[in-house]
Amino acid sequence: MTKYTPMMQQYLSIKAEAGDALLFFRLGDFYEMFFEDAIVASRELELTLTGRGGGPEERIPMCGVPYHSAESYIARLIDKGFKVAICEQVENPDEAKGIVRREIVKIVTPGTVMEGKRLQEGINNYIACLASSGEGFAFAACDLSTGELYVTATEASNLLVDELSVYSPSEVIGEEALLDEVKTALRGNAKNPLFTEWKEADPVSDAGSFFGEEDWSELGQAERRAVSILMAYLSQTQKRALAHITAIRRYETNQFMIMDPFTRRNLELVETVRERTKKGSLLWLLDQTVTSMGARMLRRWIEKPLIARGPIEERLEAVEELHNQVIVREDLRSALKEVYDLERLVGRICYGNANGRDLVALQHSLRQVPALREVCVHSGSATLNKLVGKMDDCQDIRQWIEEALVEEPPVSVRDGGLIRDGYHEYLDQLRSADRNGKQWIAELEQQERENTGIKSLKVGYNKVFGYYIEVTRSNLASIPEGRYERKQTLANAERFITPELKEKEALILEAQEKIVVIEYDLFQQLRERIAAQIERLQSLAEIVANVDVLQSLATVAAERRFCRPVLAEDGDMTIREGRHPVVEAVLEDHSFVANDTGMKMEEGRIMLITGPNMAGKSTYMRQVAIITIMAQIGSFIPAESATIPLIDRIFTRIGAADDLIGGQSTFMVEMMDIQVMTEKATERSLVIIDELGRGTSTGEGMAIAQAVIEYLHNETGCKTLVSTHFHELAHLDDSLPHLRNYCMAVKESGQQVTFLRKLIPGAASTSYGIYCAKIAGLPESIIERSYTLLSGFEARASVQQAEEEAAASAVQLSFFAAEASAAEPKTAAPQRASSRTNAAAKHDGDYSAGPPSSKAEQIAEQLKNADLINMTPLQAMNFLYELKQKC
Ligand code: ADP
Repeated sequence: MTKYTPMMQQYLSIKAEAGDALLFFRLGDFYEMFFEDAIVASRELELTLTGRGGGPEERIPMCGVPYHSAESYIARLIDKGFKVAICEQVENPDEAKGIVRREIVKIVTPGTVMEGKRLQEGINNYIACLASSGEGFAFAACDLSTGELYVTATEASNLLVDELSVYSPSEVIGEEALLDEVKTALRGNAKNPLFTEWKEADPVSDAGSFFGEEDWSELGQAERRAVSILMAYLSQTQKRALAHITAIRRYETNQFMIMDPFTRRNLELVETVRERTKKGSLLWLLDQTVTSMGARMLRRWIEKPLIARGPIEERLEAVEELHNQVIVREDLRSALKEVYDLERLVGRICYGNANGRDLVALQHSLRQVPALREVCVHSGSATLNKLVGKMDDCQDIRQWIEEALVEEPPVSVRDGGLIRDGYHEYLDQLRSADRNGKQWIAELEQQERENTGIKSLKVGYNKVFGYYIEVTRSNLASIPEGRYERKQTLANAERFITPELKEKEALILEAQEKIVVIEYDLFQQLRERIAAQIERLQSLAEIVANVDVLQSLATVAAERRFCRPVLAEDGDMTIREGRHPVVEAVLEDHSFVANDTGMKMEEGRIMLITGPNMAGKSTYMRQVAIITIMAQIGSFIPAESATIPLIDRIFTRIGAADDLIGGQSTFMVEMMDIQVMTEKATERSLVIIDELGRGTSTGEGMAIAQAVIEYLHNETGCKTLVSTHFHELAHLDDSLPHLRNYCMAVKESGQQVTFLRKLIPGAASTSYGIYCAKIAGLPESIIERSYTLLSGFEARASVQQAEEEAAASAVQLSFFAAEASAAEPKTAAPQRASSRTNAAAKHDGDYSAGPPSSKAEQIAEQLKNADLINMTPLQAMNFLYELKQKC
């Protein structure tokens, strides 16, 4: 039996190291894939699958890509959820004894890309890690491109999903059981990360030595484990020092406003629900940042609104100062325009893949820093002054680069011409040797023409023969005796060299070779010198990003007429003329209708909003949540004035059809969310329930809705906005003192219904659902039929109600009777029971329950025949009056 050839043996042993990654095996100018990898890659990349000998199999499946275009193929595989291990030749093939030594130099994974299109400018690319210990659970997330590393602990594993939704990592590693759990919870999410299980057997050494003692000692057991696994995975895939991950940013989840994934998605904080685009989200509206670092920081702020007053007030103070000073804002913006992505530049410098242009970009960026500081100092803002007060502007680093590098360096360091003249003495000497030699050669042509009298004589250069003197065949007789040495013969010319030319050529080539080596060396020294300053640069980057976000918030506030919120001490919320900023922005004709909100701890903290579909209920409720979030990230808000209490959590529960998760019915999901809400909401929370209890029968739905509202009212005491199409719930304001009824005003004239989008006190009496169906363009026959059916239903319902009321009064009567005569208690019980049955029948929406009386039938008949559509409101009133009389 044939064995594998030595090269295939080498392949197989390297493939074993690559684990679950596809192995790109460098062979000359190609990366080749073999066996199963080749089959997969050829299918995914539409490459031709070939084969080659090399082992016991007839032909080993094989496919390949040219190394110079490998990047785009790798990116495509990463996009499709694969990892790619890059295996290079690590010795010069000419010097190799036997097979060239090869090694995996790095494993590219979605969460660890350092460059290319996958790395979007304004978005962090996180890899997350989930781990547990006896004590609890931990979540860690790292953006390798910027060096940020966050970690937090959670008491329950299901809270890990909340963190995942904050960071939306492109890759998640961790313990199998935890991954399984979050996978289930994340199912139905369009953007699924790549999951890698971390097995117990995989080596993890304490990452403690990697970080400062101060950072490490702060961490709990689970957090240490999460960070250690993450760092182990990063070094396993990157195979290099990760010096730019300098600090661990530990936080507590309750330092920020808590929102579950559904709430985040539903409030469209960073992307829209439907298209999942930034456009149309709160982030889109607020993003007037100039730098990519600022854009990323703004996104982080929106994902994590603060709950501590101090830092929010600081942000608001800066936004106010900048809001009031258009010139200062403009100065900041123009200084920021020249600042590149410092975080990622610095990341690449440390990582060792920054080129000359990157360093020059750093230099340009640093050049803006003093101006930026000046503007901040003179802005009058205490916050900005504090920020730049502790700023190290790193001008020494700028100077190092300025002294060393030319203004416009070549793309590749190997092209030479990167280092400035005068920077390095020996380099200068070599350059002058090179220049002199070239000058001498340039003059040679003229000289030789004069010496020989051959006017067409040329001096040229090619890669194979170097410098030469070219003489056409017809002039060969004129060349000097002995001095010219024949080098190459062409069709109608001969090429020669002379000993002096050869000597100069050798000097030039030697100088050029040395120049490249020295330039590269100097460049690397410079890069390493800068890399050693990483922490200074990272903290500078953070300050710049911070200033950028503050100017962005101020710019938007000025453009969109936002106001500074007052942070309430007492938990009361009062918003005057509040608007939904995004809906307002996309309505073209400035037609957004502002609405007030008043929810005080002791008065009206529950708003029950009834009103037809399309009236603006959801928009209004979301507007309240968005305004709260904006206030707590330190932004101005879309209102005339507002007092906002610090909210610890926002829950939204929206009975939409598109939140099917994991095969559970919408109703079940709704109930589970409500469960979490009842468990977690506090007095300081904001709860938004849009259409509660839709997914079950009318009776049950209404019963649950009422019970939940009562619970929130009596037990939780949170601020609550509930919209419902059950206008029957409006009576709750009788029994719940903190509940207020509101509805969306509607203007009716003839058959026309106009939504005024104005929130007014009181309850709506009808839902206008059929009217909406009409606007939506349903056939007229359906609309008419619906109205007819509706009149029938309502007639029957009112008959039932009448019966019920009669029964209820009977009960009451008998109660009084019972009270009056304690000797007859039994009469009350059966009648009460019968009243209950009736009520249950109604709640179940079972309109045909119980035989209607003949009068009722008459009324129903009359209703059925009534041509409501063609009645004026007055005629309808009269008709109704008539019916009532009959009852
Ligand atoms: P509902 O929840 O009552 O069915 P929505 O809140 O979805 O109604 O609002 C329906 C539409 O009305 C929205 O898409 C929006 O364009 C418009 N709208 C809502 N509120 C306002 C408002 N305050 N001013 C102007 N238009 C609004």
